[in-house]
Amino acid sequence: MHPLPWPDPIHPGEVIVHTLAVPSPPGDEPLELSVMATRGAHDGPTLLVFAGVHGDEYEGVRAIPELMQRAAAIIEHGRLIAVPVCNPPAFAAATRNSPVDGLNLARVFPGDAQGTLSQRIAHTLTTQLIARSDFLIDFHSAGIVSSMPLLVGYSAADTPLGRRSAAAAVAFSAEVIWGHPHDPTAVGRTISAAEELGVPWLYTEAAGGGRTLPEQVECFITGALRVMHHLGMASTAPHAEPPRIHLLGAGNTDASIQAQVAGYFIPTVKLLDRVEAGQILGAIYTVTGMLLEQLVAPVAGRMVLVRGLPRVHAGEGLFLISGEQPVTA
Ligand SMILES: [Zn+2]
Repeated sequence: MHPLPWPDPIHPGEVIVHTLAVPSPPGDEPLELSVMATRGAHDGPTLLVFAGVHGDEYEGVRAIPELMQRAAAIIEHGRLIAVPVCNPPAFAAATRNSPVDGLNLARVFPGDAQGTLSQRIAHTLTTQLIARSDFLIDFHSAGIVSSMPLLVGYSAADTPLGRRSAAAAVAFSAEVIWGHPHDPTAVGRTISAAEELGVPWLYTEAAGGGRTLPEQVECFITGALRVMHHLGMASTAPHAEPPRIHLLGAGNTDASIQAQVAGYFIPTVKLLDRVEAGQILGAIYTVTGMLLEQLVAPVAGRMVLVRGLPRVHAGEGLFLISGEQPVTA
């Protein structure tokens, strides 16, 4: 197994919490990340799990402590490492981007040791953890203003890494799985940093809205346990139903359909609805009910993100549509 920047747990099945320091310039308060770890009795792969890369996404943060306990009870080979909150300043502020430097942590990987705080966090996570791992799962969700279905995203690249990512997505077994063809412009993410280091990856999305649904937290936990089983780290795994919907397309939530005007937003479609190109998706009104803008689907596909917060400003994201492929069992 890769050597870690700290001693492994002494006893198999023990869960320990480490502190990983993010180097800071002289005079700056150092930032510390809590990292949880457990290991099996035998050598094997290192599975790394992140949550809280965005500070307003809570499902993964809630999942990790219970995941560690349940993983510790079944792990036989290798080790599981998890960071419940990768972006403590954004988590403290309940914001997607860092309040310290305004940056989106998921757009600055692999980071910069001499950069701003977000860039230094990314550099620390990349060099200290991703580079020492064999597989990465990054728990995301829709954040406070939007909603997404529970899904697991994987690399649909026609490469050995893509095939390992796709096989793990099926093993994770969310109701919706979403393959992303290789996109050279999709950089700066945890998963793009992992890919550059040859580490296959998955990420998740969930409802968001500033709250957590227990059944979705359970899906994150059981999905990660099934990936452990898939990687040969455990001989048992929770039962799962096969995926029901298989999406295929780009997954950049920053490239969603945007409001052109400020106002009161009312969607007329729901998550996972099938829409046709040209179909009306919703509208923006004044508070006295005057229509300001009608939102129209530019392409056909499935709705994978719908804004929940009615108050919108020009330029804010409202919808994301993905293509789909037939589910093959
Ligand atoms: Zn996120």
